[in-house]
Amino acid sequence: MTNSGTLYIVATPIGNLQDITQRALDVFSKVDLIAAEDTRHSGLLLSHYGIKKPFFALHDHNEQQKADLLVEKLQQGQNIALISDAGTPLISDPGFHLVRKCRQAGLNVVPLPGACAAITALCASGIASDRFCFEGFLPAKSKARRDKLENLAKEDRTLIFYESTHRIVDTLADVETVLGADRYVVLAREITKTWETISGDHVGNLRQWLAEDANRTKGEMVLIIEGYSQTENEAFDPQVVKALQLISQALPLKKAAAIVAELYGEKKNALYQYGLAHFG
Ligand code: SAM
Repeated sequence: MTNSGTLYIVATPIGNLQDITQRALDVFSKVDLIAAEDTRHSGLLLSHYGIKKPFFALHDHNEQQKADLLVEKLQQGQNIALISDAGTPLISDPGFHLVRKCRQAGLNVVPLPGACAAITALCASGIASDRFCFEGFLPAKSKARRDKLENLAKEDRTLIFYESTHRIVDTLADVETVLGADRYVVLAREITKTWETISGDHVGNLRQWLAEDANRTKGEMVLIIEGYSQTENEAFDPQVVKALQLISQALPLKKAAAIVAELYGEKKNALYQYGLAHFG
């Protein structure tokens, strides 16, 4: 649609106001309207950058119905920027329904990258960043939270969650119960702000450390959990271990792991890692 406007998806800072991009400021100054979750909050943010624009409130509970109105405005040629209270819109924030409707209507959607707490925390966690699952917020109730964690217990990719200061202690207790005290976790708190802390340990130890000082669980936080690894978390059947040990006395460990994997239907690499750790 040539005369239609563009919807810009604009990331804003997650704490440090210097983390705005030049492109975001340029887009704010040229659009007709800014769709935001909390217009008062965003008004303060944008006035910090000297920008004054009309706002349109778009939050979780009105998005489905308000999105149609925004689509109409775009079709009439208005340009609109979508922002959330902090970070990247749509990431545990409103915007998905609007973007889907815009794309279905053939409207132009342009993303402007910037801060996102999950990715920023992952980068500094020291936990594998090559494959990960972002799971948003865990359920608030313990039973549902444990069920969710049980479903993810054998997930070998890094797990990333958003968590609140009120629930982090209970959540870590559930993580310890379901995934075991040895699972390595990182709590990234108040990223880009004055009290930024990034603390990592086995969940049992981290829980104890947090219990020593209530300030350690305050503020906004991302929880990163190392993915499941058979070698660390689960012993092989003793028969499998025995076979691996015997065969590796006659053959290189890699070869021995391949043979035992074939014989017992185990993962070759997991056996190899186990062998390295225990008798390599
Ligand atoms: N859309 C946002 C983003 O791109 O990161 C996330 C919005 S979600 C409603 C808010 C959650 O993000 C917080 O409860 C917290 O888990 C995480 N978060 C936001 N800012 C953070 C910060 N500065 N440090 C750590 N976690 C943060």
